[in-house]
Amino acid sequence: MECDKCDREAVMNAAYSGAHLCEVHFCRSVEKRTRRRIRSDALIPKDATPDEPECWVIGLSGGKDSVVLTHILDETFGKDPRIEMLALTIHEGIEGYRDKSVEACVELADDLDMRHELVSYDEEFGVRMDDVAESDPLNMAPCAYCGVFRRDLLERYAEEFGADKLLTGHNLDDEAQTALMNFLEGDVKQVAKHFDASLGSFEDRHTQNEFVPRAKPLRDIPEKEVALYAHLKDLPAHITECPHASEAYRGEIQQLLWDLEENHPGTRHSIVAGYEELAKLAADEYRGAGEADLNDCENCGAKTSGTRCRKCKLVDAITAV
Ligand code: SF4
Repeated sequence: MECDKCDREAVMNAAYSGAHLCEVHFCRSVEKRTRRRIRSDALIPKDATPDEPECWVIGLSGGKDSVVLTHILDETFGKDPRIEMLALTIHEGIEGYRDKSVEACVELADDLDMRHELVSYDEEFGVRMDDVAESDPLNMAPCAYCGVFRRDLLERYAEEFGADKLLTGHNLDDEAQTALMNFLEGDVKQVAKHFDASLGSFEDRHTQNEFVPRAKPLRDIPEKEVALYAHLKDLPAHITECPHASEAYRGEIQQLLWDLEENHPGTRHSIVAGYEELAKLAADEYRGAGEADLNDCENCGAKTSGTRCRKCKLVDAITAV
């Protein structure tokens, strides 16, 4: 089939929009949608100047999503004196998986001449995910430990590097899955928190808390299109599944969304758009609820509702084995 915009052959046919695009127009379309999202999220504050630039830390895992995000951000803002960018990679200690993706991160950062920082669970907490998955002291899925550790390091180091925003490569499929999971859990306060933490325009979000706010500029782009873009641009992305991947519930939701999308193209876009609107209303309603009860963790100082934060409790349990 021919491209809608020229006479080259189409490499992508999108049922949700009816578009048929060749390589050149497809890549332009991905970049355009990402830039439009950056504008509509008001990621660049009006008062950013070369003397007082905006600092973005990019969570770079080496997978296709974060590699594509880093590439597009560099293409768009690499020479913009109002924006400073650096890439942050977390090494979880997963043999044969993370080593390879760290290589992809180093290669990309070298290609782009971008500052790149690497931190590891081993150096920070004295734990490696391979050992945690094996010992599993709390009888939980590996991702339940890993997600807590990763969030802690991303937040802590983004702050240490002076980030104004932490940018991650979540795509449309990731966001539609999270939205549906939050709906099905029925936890409206969680939806409210999600808005200020990582969704919507910075003109609507209240980000005056202790965390560096997150942004997800790829959240309009379906996962398959991110993968196709990485392939067509020959980016050094590492595409292998983690051997400890264990989010069974997310997998079920993913399959459900694929089925719905197949029969009703555009479902993911409408779920995410509706979720963001409702999350904003929930944030306006619940903002600040429960924050007064937070304490500083007695061990690391992180905010917690008890005396010791979740991350420190997990490290205690793992190192006690
Ligand atoms: Fe960690 Fe789970 Fe991701 Fe593997 S799949 S890196 S265990 S969160």
